[in-house]
Amino acid sequence: PTFADLGLSAEIVSALTATGYTAPTGVQARAIPAGLAGRDLLVSSPTGSGKTAAFMLPAIERFAAFQRDGGKRTNGAPAANAGTTADGRPRRPAPQPARPNMLVLTPTRELALQVTTAAATYGKHLRRLRCVSILGGVPYRQQLELLSKNPEILVATPGRLLDHLERGKIDLSQLQILVLDEADRMLDMGFVDDIESIVALTPPERQTMLFSATLDGKIGSLTERLLRNPERIEI
Ligand code: AMP
Repeated sequence: PTFADLGLSAEIVSALTATGYTAPTGVQARAIPAGLAGRDLLVSSPTGSGKTAAFMLPAIERFAAFQRDGGKRTNGAPAANAGTTADGRPRRPAPQPARPNMLVLTPTRELALQVTTAAATYGKHLRRLRCVSILGGVPYRQQLELLSKNPEILVATPGRLLDHLERGKIDLSQLQILVLDEADRMLDMGFVDDIESIVALTPPERQTMLFSATLDGKIGSLTERLLRNPERIEI
């Protein structure tokens, strides 16, 4: 099939063509239609198989469709009327947390940065698509500045994301799509409790896509809890 056959629209296909992607890889051919249909995905595929585009393209297509239909994101902010202080000066409204629509959890900074770059490449013809990475080791101030733009997509390592959640800088109540990339590595690195805490803050009706090199024991119990009737894809 071509990317257009899989259900991607011209603005995305042209970005892919410009990047030198002429045809979908095996994992993309199976994951993109299921992802566009809103299905949960459970995918075992090695690095280098094109898995980043397999989860990013259906997500970006959904954002593009929402924008074409004239949809406007609201970040749930109350009207900017915070009253006055005791001495009569207008009170400054508290800054609103970022309310992303998509979250990608990755085990490492390097992978997070690759995913962020890929999102920008695939989504370059969309009217608006902001993707921000939230990584340990980057100064908070710098991240808060990026979060203040209310990005559609966050790509994060679990520990630093939890810090921001606990400080009220990120609110996952508007999340539509959750991706766990290299889930087996995240478990090996001891992130299971962090992942559970993060997932508990997302709406249960979200779409969840889990990618892992293997789908054995430990991953099995995580997928039981996180995925609903997933399309299983093994490459
Ligand atoms: P990934 O498995 O997502 O890390 O992708 C591995 C490499 O393949 C990356 O450099 C991608 O840019 C590239 N790639 C992904 N999908 C395609 C495609 N359909 N055609 C050509 N290159 C691709």
